[in-house]
Amino acid sequence: MSKIMIIGAGGVANVAAHKCAQRPSIFSEIIIATRTVSKALKIKARLDQKYSYNAYTAYLNADNLSEVVELINLHKPALVMNLALPYQDMVVMEACLITGVHYLDTANYEHPKVAKFEYKEQWALHEQFKEKGITALLGSGFDPGSTNAFVAFAAKNYFDEVQELNIVDINSASNGHRFSTNFSPEVNIREVTAPCRHYEDGEFIETPAFSMPSSIRCPDSLGVQTVYRMYHEELESLVLNFPSLKKASFWMSFSEDYLNHLTVIKNLGLDRLEPVEFKGQQIIPLEFLASLLPVPEEAARNTVGETYIAVIIKGLYQGRAREVTLSNRCRHEKAYQETDSQAISYTAGTSAMIGAKQILAGSWNKPGVYNVEQHDPEDFIQDMRTSGLDVDIKIKDA
Ligand code: NDP
Repeated sequence: MSKIMIIGAGGVANVAAHKCAQRPSIFSEIIIATRTVSKALKIKARLDQKYSYNAYTAYLNADNLSEVVELINLHKPALVMNLALPYQDMVVMEACLITGVHYLDTANYEHPKVAKFEYKEQWALHEQFKEKGITALLGSGFDPGSTNAFVAFAAKNYFDEVQELNIVDINSASNGHRFSTNFSPEVNIREVTAPCRHYEDGEFIETPAFSMPSSIRCPDSLGVQTVYRMYHEELESLVLNFPSLKKASFWMSFSEDYLNHLTVIKNLGLDRLEPVEFKGQQIIPLEFLASLLPVPEEAARNTVGETYIAVIIKGLYQGRAREVTLSNRCRHEKAYQETDSQAISYTAGTSAMIGAKQILAGSWNKPGVYNVEQHDPEDFIQDMRTSGLDVDIKIKDA
């Protein structure tokens, strides 16, 4: 039985807290520490009501190292999940090193002023985590996270050699807003407007954002979806950990309306991160835009439809070409009914709980800094199936 601290009180934190509260024999106590305490109190009230699970709340600005260290020392959790924003990853990892507690996140570190996702700085802490005897699990959301476990599971069970990887992220949903984002607007817009990078023959190739549309046939009523190639952080660790991969790409669906809005945002410079002066005040255009968009938590209530996230792997098995697709479908309404959050937060928050469970009560308690695919995926996949995330596997042999 372990006490954990969740930093942040957005959609992903809300779902992770629900999922941990459903397993009190593993997660005996939860402290939800965040900047806006009223949001943590809302999560606590839901847990009290649904599970009679008494969580605690605390104020925390996770940009401030001494505050994080002080709060960890006060509550002494066994593991800290950073479910705030990627900007806080390094400070929280540093605090875990100082206090000697395990660390987990769902998105890799990004500098607040430079829109570039890279694992470099987090991986550089590997030896320090090892010496301290604590584990850091990076990117344990759905994508990254469960997608990495899918690749590891397929490589272990269905292939002699994995050669090509395509990750497809479809969100077929509506929430009544012409333009909204599914998680933190600022992080989301930065991610999708960044130049695309895919991996081919030993190097990452950069192309302009949205310059490579394609279509994919999805199961049942999802039909044919238009997807665009974009950069996503799991590609960086997956091509390192599976060096036989010759090509790896990530694809995401966007509606025409969403893309038109994004084009206007870019044309107007509203995605800029450099401050501009407005009536004697410095404002950052992207932060200003984020403040005008629907709050993801509010939009979640009215979201209908589903997510479909698939990992399609091609390679060789016993000398023959093989293609394996591992996928999950998650309905927004069902996710909301259980947790008061939509499917994107649901799939990410559930995967965060599963990652934490592997460290605290499974076999992933290995000192150092690791990505999900570096561990044995069997228990993680099994836990997905028993935690509300179905896993469909299709095998096609040539
Ligand atoms: P939200 O924007 O809904 O929530 C972020 C939360 O973090 C808010 O409660 C916010 O507080 C808090 N926060 C922000 N800055 C600080 C700070 N300095 N100190 C303390 N708390 C802070 O985001 P989501 O819940 O949707 O996403 C959370 C994380 O999960 C993000 O890093 C996102 O990139 C990642 N993610 C990963 C996915 C995956 O599949 N791997 C999928 C979806 C998200 P306040 O209310 O005061 O702003």
